[in-house]
Amino acid sequence: MRLANVEGRSSLLVEQRVLDVEQASGGALASDPMVLSDLGHHDALRVLLETGDPEGLPELDPASLGPPVPRPSKVVAIALNYRSHAEESNKPIPDEPHLFAKFPNCVTGPYDPIRIPPGLDMIDFETEVVVVIGRRCKGIEPAAVWDHVAGVTGGQDISDRGEQFRPPLKQFTMAKSYDTFGPIGPVMLSPDELADPDDIELFGRLEGRQMQHGRTSDLIFPVPRLVAWLNRFMTFEPGDLIFTGTPGGTGESRTPPVFLRDGMVLETEIAGIGVMRNPCVEG
Ligand code: ZN
Repeated sequence: MRLANVEGRSSLLVEQRVLDVEQASGGALASDPMVLSDLGHHDALRVLLETGDPEGLPELDPASLGPPVPRPSKVVAIALNYRSHAEESNKPIPDEPHLFAKFPNCVTGPYDPIRIPPGLDMIDFETEVVVVIGRRCKGIEPAAVWDHVAGVTGGQDISDRGEQFRPPLKQFTMAKSYDTFGPIGPVMLSPDELADPDDIELFGRLEGRQMQHGRTSDLIFPVPRLVAWLNRFMTFEPGDLIFTGTPGGTGESRTPPVFLRDGMVLETEIAGIGVMRNPCVEG
């Protein structure tokens, strides 16, 4: 299933047409897009798809897409999860995951602007695959992880490198939680639609130029191991987001460095899921 937030309403995409979940279910399922990330509703959503008539449905206007999970209770992100990014950051390969939080205020839609606060000139991009938890859980085993996932989407872990590495300490959570620093989308794909959920290809482009490319089969901690590790002591709720890490090619690691500037367009493509296109706007 292709699960989408269309004009703030829970929706299913049928090819490029929009099935409104509340209307199609006669009000049995809510218009709040958060229903999409609750696996308890997925059987009912599949019935809507099977019984709906795609002919009469309106065409999707991509500009009407909002974040598929607008209000996650938490957003967990992983600092080094691709060898190529660990190497460009001059860091050893970690033995266990290192995480930080992105507060939910950073979440924004797949075509929404990334707002660069005036005067900040070290704003960087990180193209990532984002996993959406679909069931309340704690202490699950790696083999059970994909059964607890509502969907997979794309994300950008936007970061203010100046704040992130400001001496004397590091400040990941602040630097990655500014408003609009977490675009997700364009849609959420249920994992059954992926040929191999542990081998998802991702691309990041800035101004049309490819900056990042990777596959989740290269993750140091693949999704089952990563989620099980996080879930040992931390309960997950439906809609919780896990940014799984970024491959090499981030702006800071380049010579010379490349940072986001007013007027630039950042594209995030997840194979089989779609492309986000976020303009960068100062202010
Ligand atoms: Zn990241």
